[in-house]
Amino acid sequence: MLLAGRHAVVTGGGRGIGRAIAATLRRHGARVAIIGRDEAALASACEAGDADAYAICDVGDEAAMAATVSRLAETQPIDIAIANAGAVETGPFLRSPAERFRRLSEINLIGTVNLFHAALPGMIERGDGRLIAIASTAGHRGYPYVSAYVAAKHAVVGLVKSLALETARSGVTVNAVCPGYADTEMVAGGIDTIVAKTGATREQALAEMVKANPQGRLIAPGEVAASVLYLCGPGSGSVTGQSLLINGGEF
Ligand code: NDP
Repeated sequence: MLLAGRHAVVTGGGRGIGRAIAATLRRHGARVAIIGRDEAALASACEAGDADAYAICDVGDEAAMAATVSRLAETQPIDIAIANAGAVETGPFLRSPAERFRRLSEINLIGTVNLFHAALPGMIERGDGRLIAIASTAGHRGYPYVSAYVAAKHAVVGLVKSLALETARSGVTVNAVCPGYADTEMVAGGIDTIVAKTGATREQALAEMVKANPQGRLIAPGEVAASVLYLCGPGSGSVTGQSLLINGGEF
């Protein structure tokens, strides 16, 4: 019960990596609230015992996020905030209008900013807290045809590095966890796109996606959650400003 007595909030906790993180933190004793837009998914995660409570909120909405976090903190102050909600869109740069860059920044970067803005003051007051962003290997290197996503994830990693220095003496740590392609609906959507655009089979599309990973496979959401658990635990207090790559040795 590494996290007994801790209160964690996970954005995008209704499915995929976020749900695995919520379930892992809860299994290790934390009270966990999940945030997202799809009420059915959030409710079903709670019913399955992967979270204690949920709230509907678009992570890009600053005021809604502030109100949501403050409401969740009424039951118990927030000790752990996981900015996991994210989205990807693919397309060559010349067919990626500024609006796509804005949209993906709004979810991936501003969504993280909004959660951290809302959760950090209470943590500083108590001299203790964990902020974690689920960025991506795309926060460290480029990939073709996803420039808007790569740009937004690089920004998330930059935010983490900077905020870690600002909070270094406050008892709050700030880190990023950066997976390669993971086994979730996000990647299933990417496989659908490759199949539709190229006529490849699903097996060929999957092989194309995992070829950057030397282990030749998708990352399991639980593997990402295990790293988050480590960063939330009592022994990681001096780990801050880091990006933990979960990528099978890709780089
Ligand atoms: P999924 O597409 O399976 O899930 C995304 C989650 O984000 C959903 O729960 C969704 O909830 C939530 N979400 C999206 N937009 C918003 C929004 N505007 N407001 C609130 N919630 C939102 O993705 P994954 O689980 O695969 O990805 C989780 C994180 O990991 C993302 O940040 C992603 O970029 C990152 N990542 C994923 C990789 C992968 O290969 N899967 C690899 C590297 C990083 P709802 O529908 O309820 O709004």
